[in-house]
Amino acid sequence: MLADSEKQLRIIGTQINYYFICKTKLWLFSHHIQMEQESELVSLGKMLHKDTYKRDKKDKTIDNLISFDFVRKGEILEIHEVKKSNKMSKAHHYQLLYYLHYLKNEKGISNAIGIIDYPKIRRKETLKLDNKNEKEIENITKRIGNILSEEMPAPQKVPACLKCAYYELCFV
Ligand code: SF4
Repeated sequence: MLADSEKQLRIIGTQINYYFICKTKLWLFSHHIQMEQESELVSLGKMLHKDTYKRDKKDKTIDNLISFDFVRKGEILEIHEVKKSNKMSKAHHYQLLYYLHYLKNEKGISNAIGIIDYPKIRRKETLKLDNKNEKEIENITKRIGNILSEEMPAPQKVPACLKCAYYELCFV
């Protein structure tokens, strides 16, 4: 079972991801209306881990608190997240920056970088925390707070609707 602090961390990471995908989804998820199910996409993600990264040593947690797809410990800490496609790259980008921000501010780990791996398209994005993106993360979390304190944003069709578990709730 996840500790409350880990749950909270995961929830905020997911909220930041949804902020960039759809504000309605962010609102529904944050108000505990959770309909996400194991989908084909999730299974594909698991296969990608298994097949593409089977030789990587996995060390999934830091302090038993924050978990990632895998971590390599060298002179700097590399936090890898494996993603299926780069369609939601902005959402992935800020979610990982949030984890770096957390590590720096809550755990005192500032020599970390984030790497988003897209094995399907053989691409990697490397992220490092700086003053500018730290400020952005703080602003995003404030804006999320504002969205959640108001009425649910009206659903608007976006590409993510096609794979979204809330589709029936929004449009049927
Ligand atoms: S179905 Fe579309 S509008 Fe509704 S929550 Fe999902 S992504 Fe947002």
